Amino acid sequence: MFKGFTRFLQRPGERLKTLFGNQDGTGKAPGLRIIPREEHDISRQLFSDSALKVLYRLHNAGYEAYLVGGCLRDALLGQTPKDFDVATNATPEELRDLFRNSRIIGRRFRIVHVRFGREIIEVTTFRGRHTDDHGEHVSQQSEAGLLLRDNVWGNVEEDALRRDFTVNALYYNIADFSLHDWAGGLDDLEHRTLRLIGDPQVRYREDPVRMLRAIRFAAKLDFTLAPATEAPIRELAPLLLQIPPARLFEEVLKLFMSGQAVATYHLLRDYGLFAMLFPEADETLDELDWAEPLIIQALANTDDRVRRERPVTPAFLFGALLWPGVQQRVQRLQAEGMPPIPAQQTAAQQAIARQLQHTSIPKRFSLPMRDIWDLQQRLPRRRGKRAYQTLEHPRFRAAYDFLLLREAAGEVKPGLGDWWTAFQEGDEHDQRRLLGKVDADPAGTAAPRKRRPRKRRRNNTRPDSGNHD
Ligand code: ATP
Ligand code: MG
Repeated sequence: MFKGFTRFLQRPGERLKTLFGNQDGTGKAPGLRIIPREEHDISRQLFSDSALKVLYRLHNAGYEAYLVGGCLRDALLGQTPKDFDVATNATPEELRDLFRNSRIIGRRFRIVHVRFGREIIEVTTFRGRHTDDHGEHVSQQSEAGLLLRDNVWGNVEEDALRRDFTVNALYYNIADFSLHDWAGGLDDLEHRTLRLIGDPQVRYREDPVRMLRAIRFAAKLDFTLAPATEAPIRELAPLLLQIPPARLFEEVLKLFMSGQAVATYHLLRDYGLFAMLFPEADETLDELDWAEPLIIQALANTDDRVRRERPVTPAFLFGALLWPGVQQRVQRLQAEGMPPIPAQQTAAQQAIARQLQHTSIPKRFSLPMRDIWDLQQRLPRRRGKRAYQTLEHPRFRAAYDFLLLREAAGEVKPGLGDWWTAFQEGDEHDQRRLLGKVDADPAGTAAPRKRRPRKRRRNNTRPDSGNHD
C-alpha cells in the first residue's frame, strides 16, 4: 500500500511542488511542500470513519480541516494509526456548535473532544504566535520561557510551526486530499530523524515535556535525534521539575505503555530524564544490585504484554519502579528498631509521598499497588488457611507475578514462586501435599539473598518472625 509513497520518498526532489521555500539553513521553516493526491499513497481507508466524519463536517461548514500529527506520521511509516488529531480554523465554541457529541477540555491548552462511541477525535484550533498584546487569558509565559497557556488562535502555517517535531507537522487536507509538509518532515521521515522545529533551547524551555516526547518517539519509531535536538536535553532535564505531576503521570504512561518501555528506559537514563521522573528509583540503581534488573524485567514484561495485546496496569509498573526505594526504606526503619510490618507500611507511605511530588499516581492505581506490595509479606506465610485466603485475594495474580519478578531480579532467592505456581495449578490433593511441605520447612524460601547484619530484637521468641509463619 505504501510502495508508491516509499518510491516517492526515495526521490523527493523530483515530484515535489515547493510553493515557497527557505532552504538556506537559517533554521527557519523550509516552507510548505504540497504533495497532491495523485502523488502520495495515503489512502482514506487508513483513517477511522469518525475522523473522516469530523473532517467532512468541518469542510462542509466552510472551515479548513486537516488530519495532523501522529496518525499521518505512523501511516507514512506503514504503521496503523491509532488515534486521530484534527486541526482546523474553527474555534472551540464553533466546534461545540457543530458537534453535539463534543466537549471543550483543558485550560492551558484548550481542545475539543468529539466522541463517537468509545472513540475520541481530538480537534485543535490553529495556534498562532504569542505577542505581548494578547491578554493573559489566552497566552501566558513564565520568565524562564515556559508556556503557561497557549490559546492564541492563528492560521495553519503558524499552527504547523508551533508543533514539536518536523515529522509531527504533516497535514492531510480534506479539501483536496493533498499532503502538506511544513517543516521538512518528509525528508526527516525518510532519514528516520526526529528534529525539533525551531530553536531547541527555546522549544524545550517553552515546554520541557517535549524532551520526554523526543525520547518516546525516538524509541517508538526507532528514530535518531538530530544533533541539535539532542544536544540540550541533559542540561535542560531539570526543567521537568516545573511540570505539574498530573501531566507527568500521563506522560509516563505513554512512555512505558506503548510497547517500547525497555528502550525508552535506557534513553531516559542516558539523558538524565529518568531521575527527574523517579528520583528515588534512580538513586537505588547504584545502591541495590537487584534494582535495575527488577525494573527492566517489569518493563520487558509490559512490552511483552503490549505486543500480545494483553492488558497492562500502571499499578504493577509503578509498583516495580518504586519497590527498590521502599525496600531500602524498610531496611533503614528496621535497623532503627521498627518491626517488619509497620516498617513496610511506613516505607510504602514515605516512598509514595516522595513520588507524588514528581508524578501523580491516581488512587485507582496506588491502592492496587499497595495491595501488591502488602501481599509480598503474605505470600511467604502459607500455613493453615492462609495460603487459600491469599489465593482468593483479588490482587493475588499481580502479587504472584511481582514475586516472580523479585526472584528473577535476585532480590529474593527462588523457590517461593515455584511453590505458588504449583499451589494455584494443583488440585486439592496437590495443595495438601504442598502445605505439608511448608510445615516441614517453616523457614520458608523467601529469605533475602544477601545476608545483612541483623539487630537482635528484644523479646525475640521467633527468630524469623514477620517474614514467615
Ligand atoms: P501519538 O498519538 O502516537 O502519541 P502524536 O504525535 O499524535 O503521537 P499527540 O500527543 O497525540 O502526539 O499530539 C498530536 C500532535 O500535537 C503532535 O503530533 C504534535 O504535532 C502536536 N503536539 C503535541 N504535544 C505537543 C507539544 N508538547 N508541543 C508541541 N506540539 C505538540
Ligand atoms: Mg496523537
